[in-house]
Amino acid sequence: MSELLQIILKAEETHQLSKDEIITLLSDDTCNQVLVQTADRVRQKYIGDEVELRGLLEFSNYCKQDCLYCGLRRSNREINRYRLSKEEIIDFAEKGYAYGYRTIVMQSGEDGQFSNDEICGLLHEMKRIGFAVTLSIGEKSYDEYKAFKAAGADRYLLRIETTDSELYHFLNPEKSHQNRFECLNNLRKLGYEVGSGIMVGLPNQSLESIANDLLYFKEFDMDMLGIGPFIPNPNTPLALEKTAEFKLAVKTMALARILMPDINIPATTAMETLDKRGREKALMCGANVVMPNITEGDYRKLYELYPGKICVDESPVQCSSCIRVKIKALGRKVSEGFGFRKKAKSLQR
Ligand code: SAH
Repeated sequence: MSELLQIILKAEETHQLSKDEIITLLSDDTCNQVLVQTADRVRQKYIGDEVELRGLLEFSNYCKQDCLYCGLRRSNREINRYRLSKEEIIDFAEKGYAYGYRTIVMQSGEDGQFSNDEICGLLHEMKRIGFAVTLSIGEKSYDEYKAFKAAGADRYLLRIETTDSELYHFLNPEKSHQNRFECLNNLRKLGYEVGSGIMVGLPNQSLESIANDLLYFKEFDMDMLGIGPFIPNPNTPLALEKTAEFKLAVKTMALARILMPDINIPATTAMETLDKRGREKALMCGANVVMPNITEGDYRKLYELYPGKICVDESPVQCSSCIRVKIKALGRKVSEGFGFRKKAKSLQR
């Protein structure tokens, strides 16, 4: 048996890989299909066939940060900014609940206009409607995260983006990498379900750096991991960089599933931007979550992290039925629960 197959076989049994083994698997494409099938088996064994749906509400595209890759960065003057009112947020959320979503993901740029009290007020409303709530509004202090938790936030999504400090500083010259790690540690201490993740295919990103990311996530025991390909945005300083290879995102996702069998892994929107069956393919290489957009009208287009975002002309109700059809066609089932991570007893340390 080839060395590669041996590594994959061992990983399926032990859910452990060394850094060098991860690099070997990422750099060699001869066993990609086996890798993907293995991830799918691990998903089937630990998660089963249910797919969790989460309604994604993008409630503001204002951002005080200036990350080089992101279309919401404050220096981007080519984007029309919007901020939903409390009434609009509640209206979109209630409709989302009616479409059957039981988790809402409230995401925005780092918009200083929302006070903590306003965010807490919104969280109360989301709990009143009946949602499990994921917040994804960037870096906040320990006390702010604590207040959001007390107001009802169940989960928090903050991608580390990369664990490679040199690369992080290139992408976000003004920001502290240490603080981002600290935020994740604080969220864990406060009892959130913690979601993180990376972009793959970033300029200057090595395979070793992706291997380090995966090992960090496993060590941290992340509850959720979003892995998306980097897509250059023409209105950012990285406009002329190369688009990530879809294949690399698939392989990284498959490795994440094999290493972390019982976590939640979304089929990311960015994957479907690169491949028109991207989310289905992601669901077949380890993913078990989809986050359809519940933002309505023109706002969808304006939340433009990268170009070519999918479903901008669809309505939330269309997205809901479209994704349900796709999930069924894969022989999978839409979960009706809240979608918390179910830790596998056999894996507990
Ligand atoms: N302000 C929040 C949400 C950020 S947007 C926060 O800081 O957590 C959500 C994710 O979109 C980011 O974490 C990033 O990984 C991804 N993203 C941004 N620009 C992108 C690009 N050009 N290509 C692919 N993904 C991108």
